Amino acid sequence: MQALTVKVPWSFAIAHGPKRVENRSWPPPRSLRELAIHAGARSGWDDAGEFSPLVIDAWRDYVATLPADNAALPWPRRESLHLDFSAVVAVAEITASHAGLSMRWPCQGGELCSEWAVPGQYHWQLGNVRTLATPVPCSGNRKLWTLPDEVESAVRAQLARRA
Ligand SMILES: [Zn+2]
Repeated sequence: MQALTVKVPWSFAIAHGPKRVENRSWPPPRSLRELAIHAGARSGWDDAGEFSPLVIDAWRDYVATLPADNAALPWPRRESLHLDFSAVVAVAEITASHAGLSMRWPCQGGELCSEWAVPGQYHWQLGNVRTLATPVPCSGNRKLWTLPDEVESAVRAQLARRA
């Protein structure tokens, strides 16, 4: 299974929020359908994500679903106990992709296809996002990479239990 490492908290917004566009400077291979979403390391925390109103909204909605405790912070922070790092957190399908505004092919009708889409990037459309109840620990990598066999087995076992 191919995997993409996504910096936290953007990975959170895919696994536990409504983010269904992944922004990359390169298009996905045509043959790519199934994609493991891997949450990056704590050291790779993305400040822009921390201050994204979209991520903060997703965070508030998510925290509201958790059992009440004193550890839930009002917005996602690197030190939060409720974020997953260095683990496969979801499996998605790439349903489509296109280059965003200001490149050769515009988004639909010349407007951004999603509030999560970044102009000038390739927009990888994610569908059928299946969040893993138990994220599978694994170190990440750049570009597309292949899950180690034992990690893929653990991921597929969880997908099978969901089905
Ligand atoms: Zn788009």
